[in-house]
Amino acid sequence: MDGLGREQIFAATPVSPGIAIGRAWPFRRSVERNSAPEDRTVPPEAVDGEIARFRQARSDTREELTRLQQQLREQLNSGEAEIFDAHLLIVDDHTLVNEVENCIRNERKSADFAFHKVITNYISVLSAMPDEYLRERALDIRDVAARIKAHLRHEEADHLDHLSDRRIIVATDLAPSETALLDRDKVLGFAIESGSATSHTAILARSMELPALTGIPPGLLDGLSADDTLIIDGFTGKLILNPEPRTADTYRLKAEEAGRFYSNLRRESMLMPETADGFLVQLAGNLDTDSGLKELTQAGACGVGLFRTEYLFLNRRTSPTEEEPFEIYKKMLSATEGRPIVVRTLDAGGDKIVSHFDRTPEQNPFLGLRGIRLCLRERPDLLRTQLRALLRAGVFGNLKVMLPMVSCMAEVTEVRFLIAELQKELKREKKEFVSRLSVGAMIETPAAALQTDRLAEVVDFFSLGTNDLVQYTMAIDRSNERVAYLYQPSHPAILELIARTVRAARRHNIWVSVCGQMAADPVYTPLLVGLGVHELSMEANAIGAVRRVVRGLYLHEAEAAARAALNAGSAEEALAISRALLRKVAPQVAKLVAADRD
Ligand code: PEP
Ligand code: MG
Repeated sequence: MDGLGREQIFAATPVSPGIAIGRAWPFRRSVERNSAPEDRTVPPEAVDGEIARFRQARSDTREELTRLQQQLREQLNSGEAEIFDAHLLIVDDHTLVNEVENCIRNERKSADFAFHKVITNYISVLSAMPDEYLRERALDIRDVAARIKAHLRHEEADHLDHLSDRRIIVATDLAPSETALLDRDKVLGFAIESGSATSHTAILARSMELPALTGIPPGLLDGLSADDTLIIDGFTGKLILNPEPRTADTYRLKAEEAGRFYSNLRRESMLMPETADGFLVQLAGNLDTDSGLKELTQAGACGVGLFRTEYLFLNRRTSPTEEEPFEIYKKMLSATEGRPIVVRTLDAGGDKIVSHFDRTPEQNPFLGLRGIRLCLRERPDLLRTQLRALLRAGVFGNLKVMLPMVSCMAEVTEVRFLIAELQKELKREKKEFVSRLSVGAMIETPAAALQTDRLAEVVDFFSLGTNDLVQYTMAIDRSNERVAYLYQPSHPAILELIARTVRAARRHNIWVSVCGQMAADPVYTPLLVGLGVHELSMEANAIGAVRRVVRGLYLHEAEAAARAALNAGSAEEALAISRALLRKVAPQVAKLVAADRD
């Protein structure tokens, strides 16, 4: 692949929307940041010196991270700087520090080698985890490890801050801390091989509004030169190497349109998300931590439709106490000024493995003790703690609880009994609590969807977890790439289950939300509105486009599309129906997000 070669198009994963066009900056690290130091044994009299050197390197790293965190806070003015809190925790992790110091002391290894040995072990354990969240945390550890190693070597960490002109970075990976420090005047976007939409690097790219792709072909970087021109399309995932002038012009136009479009969308954040004929569809936000609340408010979210609590349990050796979530919910409630927050109880199991749990291995974890099953059968202690925190924090605002992976009514009634028992307990303890906590069920198994008429008798709301509903209905593992072609949210079977859930909710006068990824993809908005859901819950940056689509629709048109899609012979046919309506009511959105999906 020579510079200025012919046009080539590659498919990657879009993780941050936007278009970038410009020259490439192939980022090949001079020293592999985590390269192995020499296995060096030191004389006994040097042991104390090595330990002191390790402590100094940690202290320098701590100082550096705190400085970076401060810088990021000033630049972004958002909660993303909290990412460095996790990094700081790693620097001061007692077990890690003890293991390294023991290795220096007992095996008389150099500080560099002892640290490398211990940290490599940590990284390889985490990297092998089936849970994507945990694998991504291995990237954080790698990032911190590289800094400590650089300080041990008295080197400056590899930085990306000497770009002379505006470029698109192409690299094997980018650490979150490297991403945070990218100069937004110089960096147009980036394309990397590793990571996913849930990595901290991707989260940062979205906050910094930098178009970004992950999963680019592994060989691409090798042949790339600084003379090559690139286009990255963070909407569709396309990477175009050395585009023909005509292609570049098309994308320049698309970039201009996207820029105008997004700034218009931001101006629309105060508009009501209702159809042209006045049917209100609430738009709420999904959060993994409490740090994204500000972005949600700016995007005009009506509240938090899904707060995933798994993050509270990851990266730690013990489960949180009651006080920790209590304080978080209290803080969130005061920031949302009366808007509702729906907290989901721990959804561990499946691919979400909490490392400090002592679990019996399962052959089919997605069909195993996951979500509410795990809490009820194996960890009622954790369920009690979570519910007590919710009951107490509920006093400070509009807090609701929702249960993941429900498949029987008994699971809900058991939780309701527990809530009643905990209320008595809190009363005895003279603690403040809410006497009425709204309880919802996630509808993400076909069993739950088919039983919504009965379930509606025992819950206050439904929230359709379409990520899992698709997985369990289509009988495909949602993380298995070989069956990804069957991951079809528009399959008439899925639409039927959604329609059924909405009918049951309406019959029983309770509300129904969709909080899976389907809610964030404007291509499905016409169908979901037509099926009659009350609320769509998604990431902050997806809200603008979905609001635009909702406002362009007439309810009767959306309903007709939904009816036709329910009767379609395939997911493709149903999707085409939705896309056709999308093109009619929100052509700009369609152009950006759906143009390449025919
Ligand atoms: C879902 O299944 O759609 C959902 C929102 O939950 P999660 O992706 O966390 O399983
Ligand atoms: Mg789910």
